Amino acid sequence: MSGDPDAPDGPEPLRSVIARHGLSASKALGQNFILDRQLLARIATIPGLAPGDRVYEVGPGPGGLTRALLDTGASVVAVERDRRCIPALAELGAESANRLSLIEGDALEVDEEREAGTGAHIVANLPYNVGTALLLRWLGGERWPPWWSSLTLMFQKEVAERIVARAGDDAYGRLAVAAQWRSTPRIAMPVHRSAFVPPPKVASAVVHLVPAAEPEGVDPAVLERLTAAAFGQRRKMLRQSLKAMPGALDALATLGIDPARRAETVSVDEYVALARRLSA
Ligand code: SAM
Repeated sequence: MSGDPDAPDGPEPLRSVIARHGLSASKALGQNFILDRQLLARIATIPGLAPGDRVYEVGPGPGGLTRALLDTGASVVAVERDRRCIPALAELGAESANRLSLIEGDALEVDEEREAGTGAHIVANLPYNVGTALLLRWLGGERWPPWWSSLTLMFQKEVAERIVARAGDDAYGRLAVAAQWRSTPRIAMPVHRSAFVPPPKVASAVVHLVPAAEPEGVDPAVLERLTAAAFGQRRKMLRQSLKAMPGALDALATLGIDPARRAETVSVDEYVALARRLSA
């Protein structure tokens, strides 16, 4: 890419791609596009891609981030629900020597591993509700390490803070435990609302997650039930919030966790230790 990505010898400005294909942003599809190619190039560096790597991109829209990902030398499988975007993406595919495959459809229904292949890096700038549902799907499940190598995902800043929060932080809750018990998340880049067209109401941030070693002997469904019970009544003491969960009060005693503590003070490691005892 040249120094000025929108220079005459660079790629067509995204505003022009959007105008040429009539891609007015749809509120229903949560469309807030990023047009600044330098910002897109910075986001594309976050997964640390090398030529030949594979990326699964969800919600490419007019293809700004897609082009930045292709510029790293990676190949991209992209799933987009808005069929109006497909011709713009197909043009990008034609320029990229078969390194872009397009799927028109709903990301929540795609057989991702089959389409993208084991080891792909997932990158997405998605509407909030779809992004959180997919994050929980990618983090959940029995199989670990998962099929993907890393996640690079745009969220509302408030959600990003919930993903990386530590015990005692205001933002700490179920999402932090779900994200941190077997992966390592970090906020890789704050993104100002003015970076989007149209600008959303709140600030955003890119979160990067890589899988970590899975703690042994923990049933993910038990951990999920435990945090649902604990944070379902986050202002109550554990002895109250966990009393309906068989074995939970004994597990607290065995592990020396004071039952007068509240959910938000219990660390991820302590939840994992509790879940391990309850999974036995
Ligand atoms: N990646 C582009 C960018 O950064 O400018 C577009 C981002 S826009 C926030 C979200 C994109 O996700 C839109 O193109 C929208 O059509 C698409 N989208 C929304 N829901 C989707 C779903 N369930 N499956 C696939 N794509 C979806």
